[in-house]
Amino acid sequence: MKTIIEPFKIKAVEKIRMTTLEERERILREAGYNLFLIPARDVLIDLLTDSGTAAMSSQQWAAMMDGDEAYAGSKSWFRFEETVRSIFGFNHVIPTHQGRAAERILFASTCRAGDVVPNNTHFDTTRANIEYRGAEALDLVIPEGKEASTIHPFKGNMDAHALREVIGKKGKSRIPLIMLTVTNNSGGGQPVSMQNIREISEIARSHGIPLYIDACRFAENAYLIKLREPGYASKPVRDIVREMFSYADGCTMSAKKDGLANIGGFLCTNDSRLAEQERDLLILTEGFPTYGGMAGRDLEAVAAGLEEVLDEDYLNYRIVSTQYLGNHIARGGVPIVQPPGGHAVYIDARAMLPQIPPLKYPGQSLSCELYRWAGIRSVEIGSVMFGRRDPATGAEIPAAMELVRLAIPRRVYTQSHIDYVVEAILEVHERRSSLRGYRIARQALFLRHFSARFEPL
Ligand SMILES: *Cc1c(COP(=O)(O)O)cnc(C)c1O
Repeated sequence: MKTIIEPFKIKAVEKIRMTTLEERERILREAGYNLFLIPARDVLIDLLTDSGTAAMSSQQWAAMMDGDEAYAGSKSWFRFEETVRSIFGFNHVIPTHQGRAAERILFASTCRAGDVVPNNTHFDTTRANIEYRGAEALDLVIPEGKEASTIHPFKGNMDAHALREVIGKKGKSRIPLIMLTVTNNSGGGQPVSMQNIREISEIARSHGIPLYIDACRFAENAYLIKLREPGYASKPVRDIVREMFSYADGCTMSAKKDGLANIGGFLCTNDSRLAEQERDLLILTEGFPTYGGMAGRDLEAVAAGLEEVLDEDYLNYRIVSTQYLGNHIARGGVPIVQPPGGHAVYIDARAMLPQIPPLKYPGQSLSCELYRWAGIRSVEIGSVMFGRRDPATGAEIPAAMELVRLAIPRRVYTQSHIDYVVEAILEVHERRSSLRGYRIARQALFLRHFSARFEPL
């Protein structure tokens, strides 16, 4: 059979409130044309993020009912710890309320002012936590990873040559750790190959520098290795995951992604002295080491989710359904970052709307039109999010790319929802020359994309 079906049945449903074009025009106006300021109940298909938006399974809900809320040493903690250990293979597991809490504890324990932390591409919370320590967050993705239309199976790979140069220049004493983000979220959800993980690990080990994996989408990355890397086609994903993490000394994880949960995270290490320090910090802001920032029921939901995400029928459906959206709009002429990522499709708004200059925000224009026309919420990842001011002249500098991200929540939407999204995007694409830019009417000094208000030109 050619058709790949959703490998689940639906037991509980959540109503979508239908809206009309006129209603959405009013809602947009009232929100200052900022999709972050639109209430979720006014959105038909919400592709803002894949973080914390997964639908949990009946097994996860059942496990939550069984959550043990004992303060110390709960049954749910031992299940969580055992599951994380058996999948990732690290000695010490430190539970946190989400990924950024794991990052904060890791960098507070390892990183000092003047240090440098290389990564393929730092996620924004990772970068912020490193910079908060007075250290430098360095992005060393391969050149192909920065070109939207170049096709390469592992565009998330780190440039090993560039890494060797950085170690040579800065010296290993200023590099507390090296990171690899799987998949590379800020670089289009592109995977890292096993060969690259192995090579970066060899470089790290030869200099005595620990290697950490930002594991948020570890299962999607492992499945893309199975599909694309020679020698892995017949290996179980669980074994691929074990091999990936065998090359690392620790990891950070947001269970809101491949944990298939709505909250949660953890930090792992093999270093007993470091783990002790990290647990001391954990107690200060997250909680006792057998629950961290999570309730017993959350520990259960994450433990069950980590097992379910390794199901290869699920992963096949996940990767194929993201590609389905990307391939269908690309076939209709819409320029996207190629190939489609594991968790999201990125439209190249600069290429689609050449009549709108970067500082009139083509990505903002496209994402507002997708909402106005079809009630779809996407997110601009371009000059609204990453534009900067020239410190000398105060002039605005555009971002490197003007993208619109369509992130796919896990197990939430069916194929007909996605067909509707494809149809809406192709209709907007048909009349793309009529789209106009925006100006910013009001903005904050930091992270302006969350609160800015816009006016159409
Ligand atoms: C989401 C994410 C994080 C941060 O996790 P939170 O749970 O949102 O704090 C870190 N790294 C990557 C790659 C992510 O996608």
